[in-house]
Amino acid sequence: MQSRAIAILGATGSIGTTTLNVVRAHPSRLRVAGLAAHSRWRELVDPAKEFGVSVIALADPAAAAEARASGAFPAGTRILEGTAGLTEVACLPEISMVVSAVVGTAGLAPTLAALKAKKDVALASKELLVLAGKFVTEAARASGARLLPVDSEHNAIHQLLREKPKGDIARLVLTASGGAFRDTPIADLKHVTLAQALKHPNWSMGPKVTIDSATMANKGLEVIEARWLFDVPADRIDVVVHPQSIIHSLVTLTDGSLQALLSPPSMAYPIQDCLLFPERLPCPAPRLDLAQALTLGMTPPDPARYPCLGLARAAATTGGTAPAIFNAANEVAVAEFVAGKLPFTAIAELVGRTLAAVSAREPGHLDEVLATDAETRVVASRLALGLAR
Ligand code: NAD
Ligand code: MG
Repeated sequence: MQSRAIAILGATGSIGTTTLNVVRAHPSRLRVAGLAAHSRWRELVDPAKEFGVSVIALADPAAAAEARASGAFPAGTRILEGTAGLTEVACLPEISMVVSAVVGTAGLAPTLAALKAKKDVALASKELLVLAGKFVTEAARASGARLLPVDSEHNAIHQLLREKPKGDIARLVLTASGGAFRDTPIADLKHVTLAQALKHPNWSMGPKVTIDSATMANKGLEVIEARWLFDVPADRIDVVVHPQSIIHSLVTLTDGSLQALLSPPSMAYPIQDCLLFPERLPCPAPRLDLAQALTLGMTPPDPARYPCLGLARAAATTGGTAPAIFNAANEVAVAEFVAGKLPFTAIAELVGRTLAAVSAREPGHLDEVLATDAETRVVASRLALGLAR
């Protein structure tokens, strides 16, 4: 494989920094040409120097101004700002791939622009497919750019489906760790704290996706993500709780047999799979040690413990803008929980009430989805007042 130049959106985050570790391990294959983040510019100085990156973008203009004035970046570094800046980084002429790892939906415009410019996209931001799956997949199809899933479950399924005829696939099975409260008595969930919700049993991830794992809103988003990535309807996508996070997902074949993909719980594996696709090289992460006893459990998810999963499935069945409503309501609910304004169990309640209050429709244009997203945030913020602690 020739050297591949990439840009990373969300470079200071959990996925962004693991991406840099993977690049570090394969200097003859991978090169970083652009880095983008929200505002923590100081965390970009060392990577910019280490990888010789000359274009940086910060979503926050004040942070960009501070970074320019600091003189901390090598002379000649261009420091762009705002959505336009992120979009320019995502479309740099010298890159062929963008890692889209901005939390939430702020990465939508730059990611769509990259796909339209025929840049392959390694997609971590599942929220983009939930919000605008129709438009994101259409942009990829129209230009011929590849959409490669970073999310560990979807990456596993992508690996399992390679070179398989579509007719061989009966169902997809997403594994879920069960999150921080898998074994907490349901009656106690009302009183759990933010610090407890942020302690994921297996994965070290950003705060939003960690809380989404505890509610299983994450798995709900992932069912919708899988529906767009693999063109399989949500009612043929199952979820199982697998506490060890070693089986990353499975496919059920037409004859009834199942295939699974196993690796230790490190995002370096799926990120590297995307960055080097289709080449396979040793990954800079621990190996599974089969000299040690290995227990792999699976149980069905309890709907009473994880109401967000059922709400996401209902939104997927309704279709149109319903998944966008689910996503925006969940983002508001998680932010309110993080701010200490809502108890943990109110996250699902708020999502449910918001889904009932905002009507879904079939969007003809991306602007309609964005309008629904904005409307949902207003409605959810208002409804949150009725559920406040
Ligand atoms: P994180 O919170 O660690 O990092 C988020 C990144 O996004 C940061 O670099 C931040 O600067 C940037 N960002 C935030 N708001 C922004 C904005 N408005 N404009 C531009 N940049 C902005 O998050 P993470 O855990 O790395 O997750 C990133 C995405 O990957 C999420 O969509 C998440 O669901 C998905 N994902 C993460 C993991 C994981 O292991 N962390 C696994 C699967 C999927
Ligand atoms: Mg996942």
